[in-house]
Amino acid sequence: MNAFDLELQSRLDALRARHLHRALRRIDSPQGREIQVDGQRLINFSSNDYLGLADDPQLKHAAVEAVERFGAGSGASRLVCGSLAPFHQLEEALAAFKRTEAALTFATGFAAAIGTLPAVVDRNDIIILDKLVHASIVDAAKLSGARMRVFAHNDLGDLESKLRWASSQSGVSVRPRVLIATESVFSMDGDAAPLKEIVALKENYGAWLMVDEAHATGVCGNGGRGWADAQGVSEFIEIQMGTLGKALGASGGFVCGSRTLIDYLVNRARSFVFSTAPVPAAAAAALAGLKIASSSRGDTIRARLSQLKDGFSKRDSKMPAAITPVMVGDETAALNLATALRDRGFFVPAIRYPTVARGAARLRVTFTATHKDDDVERLASALAELAHPLHTA
Ligand SMILES: *Cc1c(COP(=O)(O)O)cnc(C)c1O
Repeated sequence: MNAFDLELQSRLDALRARHLHRALRRIDSPQGREIQVDGQRLINFSSNDYLGLADDPQLKHAAVEAVERFGAGSGASRLVCGSLAPFHQLEEALAAFKRTEAALTFATGFAAAIGTLPAVVDRNDIIILDKLVHASIVDAAKLSGARMRVFAHNDLGDLESKLRWASSQSGVSVRPRVLIATESVFSMDGDAAPLKEIVALKENYGAWLMVDEAHATGVCGNGGRGWADAQGVSEFIEIQMGTLGKALGASGGFVCGSRTLIDYLVNRARSFVFSTAPVPAAAAAALAGLKIASSSRGDTIRARLSQLKDGFSKRDSKMPAAITPVMVGDETAALNLATALRDRGFFVPAIRYPTVARGAARLRVTFTATHKDDDVERLASALAELAHPLHTA
């Protein structure tokens, strides 16, 4: 081994010693209710394909048709070689879905975050983040160079104290702009942000708000429009972000907002400007996913999803999120529990630091509308048998 690899190897060894090493697990089937892992068929409780659309015939057909009509590749950045029609169709549909003036799609949700935040705020400004926001937003905030403050998860009092502090700061020439960023449904806990109250605060302090609806889009609210829409506050949120890769069954990220915001991002979001457009098949599949999610079939699928979730946690959660954490705490214990479940035919990921805090390891159980009642009942009894009572959030 050369010095470079030796150095990296020692860092990997340190991860292993702390039970934080991760490796890819190859699967030889589509994402769905069942996956084929190392020749073993497992019931899949790991994906964010909440509506079960990743392997849906309509999405696959739309992708194939887009390949036939628009080819496999997209040539360059949309600003350089022309912007393929499927992206425009998808963006018009997203704007209509979110009831905003316009939308812009990115290669991923991660790219949407790191393109958008640094375009909108800079080192003269202040970003206030919920403690549990996704890595893409943390990285985007760092990249922007803005001063960062973190408020305790969903803690309105702490948010207000950060807002009060921010309003006492002076910038280089003008008062710093203040942007709050949060998720709507949180990715690892499945709980929801108090968006009505956050909107009231940000209006009061003249701050801007960015809400990441990655886990709510397609899942929460009327027609799956998300948690902001369900709370009736969409129109007050400057930047509504989401992904096409979770409930919508395809891949890509998006930002919805005013026509001015979108025009601005086309000019200034570096992950959009300097990156080859995604393949047209991805946009076509996402559009098909969006059509299903916002249709009456979408309503039926969502009803089934909350039935599965409530069946598992034995209560009516009211929150339509499809994420149910089973808290374990210790990293090794979480890994052992995941392994024991795999031996019983279930694929449930152990989520550890740095995805969640140290000592807050958990199994992250996610439901897909294509699960059967029996799958969920058997998972619950396997957990009981493994002497792990459900401490669900
Ligand atoms: C998954 C996720 C993203 C990133 O979206 P991708 O399309 O997967 O890159 C952003 N924010 C949250 C909260 C997420 O869970």
